[in-house]
Amino acid sequence: MNTSVAFDIIVIGAGPAGQKAAVQGTKGGKRVALIERERGIGGSCVYRGTIPSKTLRESALHLDRLKRAGEAFQFSLKPDTQIATLLSRLEDVVQAHDSFMSRQIRRNGISLFHGRARFLSEHTVEMQTVDGAQQQFTADTIVVATGSRPRNPEEIPVDHEHILDSDSLLSMIYLPRSLAVIGGGVIGCEYASIFALLGVEVTLIDRAPYPLQFMDRELVEQFIKGFEQQGGHYLGGQHIEQVRWNEVAHVATKLSDGTTVNTEKMLVALGRQANVEDLNLSAAGIMVSDKGVIPVNQYCQTNVPHIYAVGDMVGAPALASKAMEHGRRAVRHALNLPIGDAASTIPLGIYTIPEMASIGLDEVGARERYRDPLIGRAKFEEIARAQISGAGHGLLKMVADPAGERLLGVQVVGDSATELVHLGQLALQSGATIESFIDNVFNFPTYAEAYRIAALDILGQAAKIRTAKAA
Ligand SMILES: Cc1cc2nc3c(=O)[nH]c(=O)nc-3n(C[C@H](O)[C@H](O)[C@H](O)COP(=O)(O)OP(=O)(O)OC[C@H]3O[C@@H](n4cnc5c(N)ncnc54)[C@H](O)[C@@H]3O)c2cc1C
Repeated sequence: MNTSVAFDIIVIGAGPAGQKAAVQGTKGGKRVALIERERGIGGSCVYRGTIPSKTLRESALHLDRLKRAGEAFQFSLKPDTQIATLLSRLEDVVQAHDSFMSRQIRRNGISLFHGRARFLSEHTVEMQTVDGAQQQFTADTIVVATGSRPRNPEEIPVDHEHILDSDSLLSMIYLPRSLAVIGGGVIGCEYASIFALLGVEVTLIDRAPYPLQFMDRELVEQFIKGFEQQGGHYLGGQHIEQVRWNEVAHVATKLSDGTTVNTEKMLVALGRQANVEDLNLSAAGIMVSDKGVIPVNQYCQTNVPHIYAVGDMVGAPALASKAMEHGRRAVRHALNLPIGDAASTIPLGIYTIPEMASIGLDEVGARERYRDPLIGRAKFEEIARAQISGAGHGLLKMVADPAGERLLGVQVVGDSATELVHLGQLALQSGATIESFIDNVFNFPTYAEAYRIAALDILGQAAKIRTAKAA
């Protein structure tokens, strides 16, 4: 007979969402079981997503800096450059992350189990290990954090050799000469711009006229400009009619306008699919939406109140930062601890080259809410720090209410955008005025100076409006 081990909280999945949930649970004085099916902990963030892609990006930027510094030497990568060479630091980064996370789990007294988990009932979870052994666990609170995987439509024959997805892309041995990327979302745009900077001939294809539809259009235009300057091509407004590996040398992608794009490799980046199938959710009475995600409320509670779903499995945006906040939030709610309102201001960071970031309302969102918001702009060309680093173009947009007093949002494209946005995030959260960006002394030269320039732009517009009204 299978006896159950009782815990206060069971967390399924040890990606960023599950880890934070587990740590929060033990910090709240509870006995926590963390169940992970893989040998390593860290989820797709560590092994197939954030860390590998950002390591490759760092290599691409480093090589680009070398290339620019040694322009006279005509430096270029060898045609048969191995991806492993470009990812030489990955092993060290993953190891460092892994040992940090293992220490954190041990230090917090979390009970870590390796095996595949599934529900047997509302309070019981069964885990099966790789050698087939089964173990049952019960708990008052259960947090499901099983993440997501690439969504590969049936009509696209992903073979993980010529036609790859984001899980298999970096298993390519050599840097390809050419790459077609289908899908203008975050993953597609990030990889497209990284490979273009590495000298690969990249064609990015999407149905929409512009990629990254949820981002500010002006930022996206700057991104496309930078991508095309690196030799990339964006083909918008295109439907994929057919994708085939020709069994010899290239992947042929037939487009709706009749053209065919031939490339050595293809990356399919058509979104993510929640990992819900293996969990036997019906045994616990948990609902799944038509889109295949688990619907949750603001505290990440499913329709079964003591069962929470967190991270990628509840849908977009698929971000490690959001996943961690979900894990924390869900367990704090379960333990009746104060939660705060951090989740309403989660920033977006997109590690394209150039990178982009956003917090709060953008221009379109602010127009819908306030009709005539004021938009302050600071072009990086006007900033000494950007001129010195030769980092090229960039733009910071500050969105304010129609009186030019209150900050509503910030969007940035260009070098350090994903860091810069946090200054705007703090300002938004603390209700800072536009004036406060002028009243403070900023280091010189810094990218942060862009905030001051954009704030001055807004205050100038507000003053003109006041004068016009008074006249
Ligand atoms: C190419 C790429 C680049 C990315 N770049 C960024 C970035 O720059 N910034 C950012 O914030 N985000 C980025 N992301 C997204 C980020 O990786 C995810 O949002 C994050 O990993 C989601 O965390 P999670 O905990 O919800 O799920 P995951 O990280 O997917 O973890 C889920 C865990 O659950 C385990 N599991 C699944 N089923 C079971 C089961 N039945 N039993 C036990 N265990 C199970 C899995 O093995 C896995 O370890 C990127 C993603 C990709 C693919």
